[in-house]
Amino acid sequence: MDEQVSIRGGNTTNGKGIEGESGGRVTVPDSISPLRQLFPILNQTVRGVPLAYFDNAATTQKPVGVIEAVKRYYERDNSNVHRAAHDLAGRATLGFESARTKVAQFINARSDREIVFTRGTTESLNLIAYSYGALAVGAGDDILLTELEHHSNIVPWQLLAQRTGAKVVAAPLSDKGDIIIDQFRERLTARTKIVSFTHVSNALGTMNPVAELVSLVRRYAPQAIIVIDGAQWVAHGPTDVQALDVDFYCFSAHKLFGPTGVGVLWGKYELLERMPPFLGGGDMIDRVSFRETTFAKPPSRFEAGTPHIAGVIGLGAALDFLGLAPWPEVAAHEKAIGEQVLEGLRGVDGVRLIGAPAQRISVASFRVDGVAPIDVAVMVNNNGVALRAGHHCCMPLMERLGVSGTVRASWCLYTSQSDVESLIAAVRSTTQRRSIKRLAKVEERAVIPGAERSAPSVAAAAAALIGEFDGCPDAAMKQELLFEWGQSHRNLLERLKECTTPVPGCMSEVRVLLRRTPDGELTMASDANAGIVRGLLTVIERLVSGQQIAELREFNIRAFLVRIGIDQFLSMQRRNGLEGVLQMIEAEVGAFEGVGR
Ligand code: PMP
Repeated sequence: MDEQVSIRGGNTTNGKGIEGESGGRVTVPDSISPLRQLFPILNQTVRGVPLAYFDNAATTQKPVGVIEAVKRYYERDNSNVHRAAHDLAGRATLGFESARTKVAQFINARSDREIVFTRGTTESLNLIAYSYGALAVGAGDDILLTELEHHSNIVPWQLLAQRTGAKVVAAPLSDKGDIIIDQFRERLTARTKIVSFTHVSNALGTMNPVAELVSLVRRYAPQAIIVIDGAQWVAHGPTDVQALDVDFYCFSAHKLFGPTGVGVLWGKYELLERMPPFLGGGDMIDRVSFRETTFAKPPSRFEAGTPHIAGVIGLGAALDFLGLAPWPEVAAHEKAIGEQVLEGLRGVDGVRLIGAPAQRISVASFRVDGVAPIDVAVMVNNNGVALRAGHHCCMPLMERLGVSGTVRASWCLYTSQSDVESLIAAVRSTTQRRSIKRLAKVEERAVIPGAERSAPSVAAAAAALIGEFDGCPDAAMKQELLFEWGQSHRNLLERLKECTTPVPGCMSEVRVLLRRTPDGELTMASDANAGIVRGLLTVIERLVSGQQIAELREFNIRAFLVRIGIDQFLSMQRRNGLEGVLQMIEAEVGAFEGVGR
């Protein structure tokens, strides 16, 4: 890669990579790609094809360091933390508490005491809503969220509102998927007690302008605390909770190359110290009696019961792994991958990107015309591509965007260019399937007749065509013949446009309607906006239309096209376009027997 990237205000907490606060340009060598080798799971085939994992926003894969740390803990150190005097408990406690120190350094917290281990972002947000909510929110207060939020940054606040009589308010989004700053500001009032928003949207990839939003809150609602849902940011760049000037920051280990079931709540100590417990039980107390119980100081106050020790140790190992990956290089790599994904998707006919945020992090949401998001995800899985489809736990956002759901591709530091190529090829293949599906629907109402049978059998039709092409002395004459046929091809384009979708992969506008008759024949009606393509469609119609499907299934159309010398008189690009037509025919012929492609 060896490219130039620009870095602003670089405070890394992993001690690598960014030089000072200068914001200057640095040269970044490509040390990211080799890190992929540390993820054993990526080196597998799915359905016989190499896995291309694009579901990183749901959960990231784990490097060997994390897997080994968890294994080592169970093999060597397994014991409960904080309580026993024996060596194993000492080692378990040391591993657990040193992970806390690593987390504090990772997000530049003032102290380890500000790090509370939870089960994940969801629990962290619930903890704040429950505990800080009990302390500071009452009837008539507002809790300001945005339309971008994940359900876990909506529902805990709604529950708080129900308990207290407070109101949940959502700042609206632009059509591109960005928070509308003015409207956000207008919703900041003397009633606003909590403002909670995501750092990065899991559904659109929108990176919020946190500094700008924070300064608005501090100015127009200084009494409010600010909570950030960092689930989708922490794996993509440096986090500095002091520089962000927020009050709480939440994230999950599993989206950061660590284990599931572990998360972090960072909070300013002076706030944590004032907050009542969330869950009661062991480890969170100072003294217990039936008269009165007093509580431990944070973070213990919020860590009732035996924690996920192995998971926390695994999180520590994930942070060690991230120490190998300087943030500027991660950013440069992910940016390059992102550009390839977006460009690739834009190049697929029938794909519509959803959202165009001003700043995007590692997520692209899209829809394929005529194919349900879930169908797309299921189809690309056949090509080894792992994607997510649906509402992504962001139903209010989907409603705002006017879609039931999207297909989501999300990448991270180990995503390779070859993954992107697999993704784009797989998505393209779903659009071809889309045409076939559409055609099936169209069949019922289409009144456009297929071309007449040109000969009693496919073989006879092929022989006649071969004879005519062989009668041309050279390639130029063959091409001329095609143009002539093109001129007399039936004019169906406008009618076909009403009931078909364009054949994917063609340079020109090509429409094909295939139907199956009750007698087991295939009929074809087609047209295009280019003369030579119309001629070619005449050839194909003469070959297949009105012929028995059983016979067509045995017939090799590609070999026939080579036999008539197609490579001599048709450019490679046109032949590639022809491929879309052939695939439709093959799918239709296969589909007749219930053979899916
Ligand atoms: N917020 C965002 C933005 C997320 O993407 C997710 C996970 N999809 C969550 C919160 C919840 O995280 P978890 O399920 O790990 O608690």
